[in-house]
Amino acid sequence: TKRDLRRIGDFCYEVPASFWDRMRVPARLYASETILDQILQDKSLAQLVNMATLPGVLLHSIAMPDVHQGYGFPVGGVLAADTEEGIVSPGGVGYDINCGVRLLLSDMQRQDFDKRATVQLVERLMRTIPVGTGEGSPIKITKRELDQVAREGAHWAVRQGYGEPSDIEHIEDRGRMDEADPDCVSDRAKERGYVQLGSIGSGNHFLEVQYVDRLFDQQAAQSFGLAENQIVILIHTGSRGYGHQICTDYVRIALESAARYGISLVDPELACVPFSSPEGQRYYRAMRCAMNFAWANRQIITHFVRQVWKDLYGTERRLRILYDVVHNTAKVESFEIEGRRVKAVVHRKGATRALGPNHALTPTPYKHIGQPVIIPGSMGTASYVLVGQSFDDTNFFNSTCHGAGRRMSRHQAKKKIFGEKIDLRDALEQEGIIARSQSKAGLAEEAPFAYKDVDEVVEVVEYAGMARRVARLRPIGVIKG
Ligand code: 5GP
Ligand code: MN
Ligand code: MN
Repeated sequence: TKRDLRRIGDFCYEVPASFWDRMRVPARLYASETILDQILQDKSLAQLVNMATLPGVLLHSIAMPDVHQGYGFPVGGVLAADTEEGIVSPGGVGYDINCGVRLLLSDMQRQDFDKRATVQLVERLMRTIPVGTGEGSPIKITKRELDQVAREGAHWAVRQGYGEPSDIEHIEDRGRMDEADPDCVSDRAKERGYVQLGSIGSGNHFLEVQYVDRLFDQQAAQSFGLAENQIVILIHTGSRGYGHQICTDYVRIALESAARYGISLVDPELACVPFSSPEGQRYYRAMRCAMNFAWANRQIITHFVRQVWKDLYGTERRLRILYDVVHNTAKVESFEIEGRRVKAVVHRKGATRALGPNHALTPTPYKHIGQPVIIPGSMGTASYVLVGQSFDDTNFFNSTCHGAGRRMSRHQAKKKIFGEKIDLRDALEQEGIIARSQSKAGLAEEAPFAYKDVDEVVEVVEYAGMARRVARLRPIGVIKG
């Protein structure tokens, strides 16, 4: 409860390790007072405390202001574990491995899109790009090719003609993780995956047409190529059934193996194994296959969006990638802790890496200014582009939030929409937003009121020093699963 929290700074709270003898480190939470009250409505704080019990956890477990309850670990959580003594946890990455967002920048303006033009674009995108649970791949690949995808990520897609070589420079980790080993991936995962490459999927995943409605930082906006009223496209999807199956497989393996490594879990959903164990290494290599799958997925979707763009507006019109960020992952990164270089497995589940200028991992095109961070809000409110500013910061392990975060469960949101007979599509249209979806329930679960106030979430992020605001984006067209 609130009484167990100690305020340790502006927008920063901590549950001290003395709270419970199972805790190895304090649990830290970044929030405003309003957001804190919302966070206390679900189990996310208890889950944050549970994270602090895991072997090898470094300094503190972290919850971002968009945090909400998840499977074992909360969504919006960051956990850094020592690579030698620490664990890796499939649930700490999440079921949608390399779920992420990619922002495409156009050279068209808000004024170019009246209602008719927006409807035309949205319906055309909807017909071209598969959305929804059952919808499969727009391209045909073999299982052999799937293993290539798993090794090469976005590079595979670009090589096949789905994109331009310069796209690669504008993707986190250049769209490929090495040490990805398809031999660590089950046949079941491959079976599910190879028919889904190039599709959005269902639920929270979307394709959104937006315009830049406000700039906060002129200099960064200019470096990013963002200007007021510019039309942009946001893609949110991940590794589909492929990643989901990999997570399922390794949660089971971790559950079976944890005790053998002397790990006692305060919640079975935290299932984990030592990072250095054979099981840990196999998960890590399989997880990286799913990361590569997701990058190829967003790359192929980008290709089809560009095709629609050219068909509708002419071959001269271009869509350039601002950046593509991962928000479900575990990566090995190094930090200075008490004068020592420590290698850590940084689990970011519903959290985005946010690197400042001149960090070795900051992508080349943004080296001098900092990494773009893309934060979706909701289909009825706003989304943000931020710029990272930290350098080996152990307060957040170079991370920030990944969205507005839920304040209502899917179930609660649906109940409200259907109970109060709200026609969400109509309501959005009144606001000038053209929404299309495969299922009414899918749309209802994602109603804007189900999410926290994204403006406030990114204010916390900025005031806490994780990342600065660059631009706010507002939707005009949304396609949902
Ligand atoms: P997640 O990856 O956790 O499912 O979602 C990330 C974030 O996306 C959510 O926390 C929420 O703020 C945001 N979001 C969900 N649906 C939409 C949408 O339709 N449009 C936009 N722009 N953001 C959304
Ligand atoms: Mn996501
Ligand atoms: Mn996802």
